[in-house]
Amino acid sequence: MRPVQFFIDFDGTITRSDVVDRILESFALPDWKKVEAEWASGKIGSRECLSRQMALVGMKEAELKNLLKSVEVDSHFSSFIKRTFDFDVPVTILSDGFLTVIREVLKRELKSTGIPSKKIPVYANDIKLMGSKISLVFPKGQPCTHGCANCKQSLVERLSKNAHQNVFIGDGLSDRFGAKVSNFVFAKKKLLLYCRENDVPHQEFHDFSDIEKWMVNNFDPFFSGTKRKEVSWC
Ligand SMILES: [Mg+2]
Ligand SMILES: [Zn+2]
Repeated sequence: MRPVQFFIDFDGTITRSDVVDRILESFALPDWKKVEAEWASGKIGSRECLSRQMALVGMKEAELKNLLKSVEVDSHFSSFIKRTFDFDVPVTILSDGFLTVIREVLKRELKSTGIPSKKIPVYANDIKLMGSKISLVFPKGQPCTHGCANCKQSLVERLSKNAHQNVFIGDGLSDRFGAKVSNFVFAKKKLLLYCRENDVPHQEFHDFSDIEKWMVNNFDPFFSGTKRKEVSWC
């Protein structure tokens, strides 16, 4: 059995609420919901969705900073991350949200663990604020066939190491392309329904303590690298 690496969604998975939705709810003109409906029905990809939605937003840097103070994170996340470092299990965050937001929240949440948040690779879109106008920064390279802003399928495929099994952790529709090319999925909310309906090997999780328990049951902390116990998928 090959060792495991985790790919983790950010909004709604690490955080309790979706930060992009919070930005839209607080600072966008109401038409953002119409764009959201087009995306949810599969009519447009997330790149077009995000571009059209962010064009409706007026938000100053101080307002974003203020909003970020109220972003709550899964209370078991930092303990889970600490365990991945103890067990030498690679963790990568894949997000269709914004790098600036993710870096800020990670820094705050991991402070108590002593793990520098920069040690966790993050692949995401980003925003630049100019006054109250927002410009979007998408990852370089050709857009994928799904029209994603930041394609999680391409990332899982690109970042896969031959020696590792890919375990995806997520909650939403933007995770489905990453989930279907992973070896196993921990899912909640809309991603859980998607996995059930599409026979994607998965287990439901409620918070990161469920996944930490799974690691403790399956991994041997006295061996790092490839010498781990057999992993049993639950
Ligand atoms: Mg999500
Ligand atoms: Zn894609």
